[in-house]
Amino acid sequence: MGRDATKGSTWASRFGDWFDACWWFPPTCPGCGAVAAADRLCPPCDLRVFAPPAPSVGETPCGTRVDALAWFDGDVRSLLLRLKFGRDTHAACAFGPRLAVRAADLRSRFDAIVPMPLSLPRRCVRGFNQAELLAQPLGEATGAPVVPGLLARRHRAAQSGLDRAARLENLSGAFRAPRLDGLRVLLVDDVVTTGATISAAAATLRRSGANDVTALVVARTPDQK
Ligand SMILES: [Zn+2]
Repeated sequence: MGRDATKGSTWASRFGDWFDACWWFPPTCPGCGAVAAADRLCPPCDLRVFAPPAPSVGETPCGTRVDALAWFDGDVRSLLLRLKFGRDTHAACAFGPRLAVRAADLRSRFDAIVPMPLSLPRRCVRGFNQAELLAQPLGEATGAPVVPGLLARRHRAAQSGLDRAARLENLSGAFRAPRLDGLRVLLVDDVVTTGATISAAAATLRRSGANDVTALVVARTPDQK
């Protein structure tokens, strides 16, 4: 194939080609940093990161189905910690393709994709919501809308270090949603530990009229093995 005829050869397009050549950053694998065809895990990293066993489909105490790609361990744990606390948003690319496949499998169960929200103070400190980064490719893969604003979260103390009962108490009244008559929601988050956060979010969505809530997360903590 020759040069794109629509591109022309004006000085502006030649300058654009030179600029691209000087400043083009190639996609890289978030696992090993090697140049890759796209910002995703290269095949060897993908096999290593998602080596079996994978967790089976689980359920929160309130009965919400939770699909997890992997256990929160090894490379998956390292990548999620880089994403969440190292502000390495490129690490989210490690999970996009597999999350997209799982979301496509679940497509008949939901109408909209909702990333697990952060409270405003936590989002301001972190600068981004990791669940939104993880959810974005799922919208593109399934054609379902990604609606971050559908669920809001009030600020509460961090959940880490609390047992299941204390987590539920801490999350009481933490979420709110508008009327969602009959909507089926896919909740997306990075990690599920006791399922208390997903339970509280799903309960709010159901009280607001959601017909069904399913959760898709990257990882489940090993203490639930
Ligand atoms: Zn790699």
